[in-house]
Amino acid sequence: MKRLIAVMLLVLLTLPASVALSEAEWTYEIPLSAVLSEYTILVNRNHKLESDYIPGNMVSAEVRKVSSTVIELDAVVAAALQDMFDTAAKVTEYLYRVEDSDGSWVYTAFSDPDGMQLVLKSGYRSYSSQYTIYNNYLARNGGVDDGISSPPGSSEHQTGLAADVLSVDYNNTHQYMNSSNYGTPEAQWMEENAAAFGFIIRYPEDKEDITQVPYEPWHLRYVGREIAGYIKRTGLTLEEFTVEWQAALDAFLMDGGNVQAQLLWESTMAPAAVTTTVLDVYGDDGDPEVSLSMW
Ligand SMILES: [Zn+2]
Repeated sequence: MKRLIAVMLLVLLTLPASVALSEAEWTYEIPLSAVLSEYTILVNRNHKLESDYIPGNMVSAEVRKVSSTVIELDAVVAAALQDMFDTAAKVTEYLYRVEDSDGSWVYTAFSDPDGMQLVLKSGYRSYSSQYTIYNNYLARNGGVDDGISSPPGSSEHQTGLAADVLSVDYNNTHQYMNSSNYGTPEAQWMEENAAAFGFIIRYPEDKEDITQVPYEPWHLRYVGREIAGYIKRTGLTLEEFTVEWQAALDAFLMDGGNVQAQLLWESTMAPAAVTTTVLDVYGDDGDPEVSLSMW
């Protein structure tokens, strides 16, 4: 009898472990619910939206805009953008880099008691308005498609998840946006901190071969804080991130992973706390710099 109990105990003790081992685990750094959300949609010249694709849940952005014309964005994105604009307005001191006359970059201080003044230039654009913008750009650019303006269907602005954000000063002094925008403290602050609000710099410098779009410091794409933080940390483009998470999903399914069960399990987990408190921090050079605590 003792032996029987011992055997039964052994079976009971080993059973849960063997059951757990037979189930595939989602080990990718980003939760499955995040990668399967609407915020990971990939739109580019190889992944075009249909002409009748219109996102739901759109609202009129209430942040500072370049004109009184309504600019629509996804409601979640509009709220995140408002949060970012409000935080930027509290940044009264900031170290940023400017290009010297000899081509080297030197730090200089932004200082303004009113803080950084961001302005929204563009948000949601319909397929037909992108059609007009694209053709106007081609006409202005001698018929050459240099990647700056996207053909209709391949613009992220059709998703309602993308926002072009400039500084008020840059907008007042530049009719057209170009990479000189990086020379503004606001663009550099956004590059450093936009991820805390769920945005990525969608078209980074030196990634044109992957994104097929030249560097655009002003073009922010909402992907959610978790993914934005991961992309900022790894330096991946959205294209590369998409390949990576889809490979993780393929491997999960190959191992017998259950998507519904995983999503159900994730829904029971408390979301990770993220803080975006403005802090005074000091860089290596000892100069004051205002930054955010993120994770
Ligand atoms: Zn844009």
